[in-house]
Amino acid sequence: MYAKNVWKKMTSEKNNQVNEFCEGYKDFISVGKTERLCVNEAKAIAKKHGYKELSDYKSLKPGDKVYVINKNKNIALFLIGEKPLTEGLRILGAHIDSPRLDIKQNPLYEKDEFAFLDTHYYGGIKKYQWVTTPLSLHGVICKKDGTTININIGEDESDPILGISDLLVHLSAKQMKKSAKEVIEGENLDVTFGSVPLKDTEKDAVKANILKLLKDKYDIEEEDFISSELEIVPAGKARDYGIDRSMIAGYGHDDRVCAYTSLKATLDIDSTEYTSCCILVDKEEIGSVGATGASSSFFEDSVAELLSLSKKTNYLDLKRTMTNSKMLSSDVSAALDPLYDSVSDKKNNAKFGYGVVFNKYLGSRGKSGSNDAEPEYIAWIRNIMDSNDIHYQTSELGKVDEGGGGTIAYILGEYNMNVIDAGVAVLNMHAPMEIVSKADVYEAYNAYKIFLTK
Ligand code: MN
Ligand code: MN
Repeated sequence: MYAKNVWKKMTSEKNNQVNEFCEGYKDFISVGKTERLCVNEAKAIAKKHGYKELSDYKSLKPGDKVYVINKNKNIALFLIGEKPLTEGLRILGAHIDSPRLDIKQNPLYEKDEFAFLDTHYYGGIKKYQWVTTPLSLHGVICKKDGTTININIGEDESDPILGISDLLVHLSAKQMKKSAKEVIEGENLDVTFGSVPLKDTEKDAVKANILKLLKDKYDIEEEDFISSELEIVPAGKARDYGIDRSMIAGYGHDDRVCAYTSLKATLDIDSTEYTSCCILVDKEEIGSVGATGASSSFFEDSVAELLSLSKKTNYLDLKRTMTNSKMLSSDVSAALDPLYDSVSDKKNNAKFGYGVVFNKYLGSRGKSGSNDAEPEYIAWIRNIMDSNDIHYQTSELGKVDEGGGGTIAYILGEYNMNVIDAGVAVLNMHAPMEIVSKADVYEAYNAYKIFLTK
């Protein structure tokens, strides 16, 4: 087979580059626990690389660096190329939302002298993985007076953490007979929030004490939860994994590992023939829907704005720009797990340490819902990967009829541009602690960089 283990050919010089790159990535996911925080980080890093807001430009020339932010949860970056936009872009697209528990709109309640926050899970999770593990709370509370309060509880060493309880094993005779799907009910994923009653209060004294605390610390009322966006996520930083430090354990590798590598690939280039683009989207885990998801007109509108700064305001110019573009849908792949290898066709499954992964198609059953990349496009990609010594492998999402899934690839494909899924293999996908191989992270970054310059 063409795919080779990257570590076997690793020089000490390259190993240093891998480690340095992965330290930056670990910092990024340790801070970027929500899509908003990822957008903030991406914006901060982009500004350091000379990127400016679209509204700062009156016209565009090759080498100009532009970013556009949509509703604080969605960012697009463009490096203007030598060729006219209508000849197409080179696009890297990743999602920055990850599975988690969202706080309900009316979340706070008291039961048996505990205060709880009621949640509604977001994305595909195994519910039993989210109990008895350290959790943190991130997000915003928007008040009627127009102010926004940022919340971040559980990351700092001196912070309290939050968590969800599970039944002690001694009394679990009935619970242990339930299927894994039902052993933890969605409505039982409620976060323990406090246990001290407010003095001289009769009813719901613990809840009253929490409300007093929220008022004192954040100046919010209970009703302000209505206009909040609060996410419960695993607490703590990304760490090296394995005694050889070859892997990274962390929350949200899906898909922040591809978001970071795509972002860095874009920022580390100063000139290209075709205009480069990195788009980071929200809502992939619930179907890429809504204003900040990949299905939103935000991306198309941003390209139209770029065209208008280049004096191209014809509808056909926009259509040609999209159709002539090439895209890598930067999303993660399911890595072969030796403990669960029965779900994988080993000769068609991504492996740790074998480099960036290309998925011609994903989908379920008979490839349903899949973007099926064109072989002519794959041949073009093989050529640029091979001639630049990039380690790559191909994959499917498990054996036929084992399950399935999708990415944003088909959405951009609907503009009639060439798109293929390309990303990093992940173990424990969608678990509170996901794993990636450092070699693959670095190889994805290199592959993305090469793609943007071809
Ligand atoms: Mn993903
Ligand atoms: Mn996912």
